[in-house]
Amino acid sequence: MHEMAITESVITAVSEKVGERRVQRVSLAVGRLSGVVAESLYFYFDLATEGTPLEGSKLEIIDIPGRARCRSCGAEVELEDMIALCTCGSADLEILSGEELTIKEVELEA
Ligand SMILES: [Zn+2]
Repeated sequence: MHEMAITESVITAVSEKVGERRVQRVSLAVGRLSGVVAESLYFYFDLATEGTPLEGSKLEIIDIPGRARCRSCGAEVELEDMIALCTCGSADLEILSGEELTIKEVELEA
């Protein structure tokens, strides 16, 4: 149900900004480490936009890969989830990207 709350806050944020104008497309950047399931966002988006300026608009999800820098050896490693190790064996990783969940772009109807 985590995704439902996220979807609703995105819809609220966009609705407040666009006022009465109709929205065509919403782009969301979703990091792979954010723990958010994109399929659920699509699902709740269609339900929760009903009766809002976003009704009928398209949700676009931009997948942001997880990246981190190892504090021990300085190497950059790609992360699929939060449980990760550098090839040097260190787990002391500084997350560079992949945790974000942000609105990238909103396209309004002309
Ligand atoms: Zn390392």
